[in-house]
Amino acid sequence: MIKATNSFGNPEPASSTGSKKKKSKWQKRYNQEHKQQIREYGKRYWQENKQKIREKNKKYRQKNKQKIRKKSKRYRQEHKQYYREEGRRYRQEHKQYFTEKSRERAVKQRKKVLMHYSKGTMQCANCGYNISEGLSIDHTDDDGAKHREEVGKGGHVLVNWLIKHKYPKGFQVLCWNCNFLKSAYPKVYKAIGKSKRKI
Ligand SMILES: [Zn+2]
Repeated sequence: MIKATNSFGNPEPASSTGSKKKKSKWQKRYNQEHKQQIREYGKRYWQENKQKIREKNKKYRQKNKQKIRKKSKRYRQEHKQYYREEGRRYRQEHKQYFTEKSRERAVKQRKKVLMHYSKGTMQCANCGYNISEGLSIDHTDDDGAKHREEVGKGGHVLVNWLIKHKYPKGFQVLCWNCNFLKSAYPKVYKAIGKSKRKI
């Protein structure tokens, strides 16, 4: 049997044989000195064989789906700490972006919910007031306090809850004025509703 030898003519250590061959010193030096050339060659090779490589990779991924999934899961698990810290750092660095994004999303979601419960009119069901910032979501069967206790308080909590529960019945859109009048001055509230007087 011919033993594999490295550039100095010594037998390679057993661990270096197989698919993951350790690079010899000579190879390392060559790579260092020809960095630019190797890079350019790689680039050219990629340009010329893009389609072929992509197809081959795709096929490999399809064939080894399970294997890849397992491997990447294990990798993530082993580097959990790293991912956690990186994620934290990234969010911290892009705080402004994330805050703006989540605010934008909250506004969009709120409008969507208001649109649904006003049957596409974006108006107070009682008086017809139609500026979205002045509208609120009201429990039609007057158990708002109880429901809020269940769902939790906070501006966006109800909106999230309604989306999550696929827009259940029992809600309507009222302007803040009508919302207040409904519980504090029900007679006034009803009178406004009858005359459709804008507040
Ligand atoms: Zn109103």
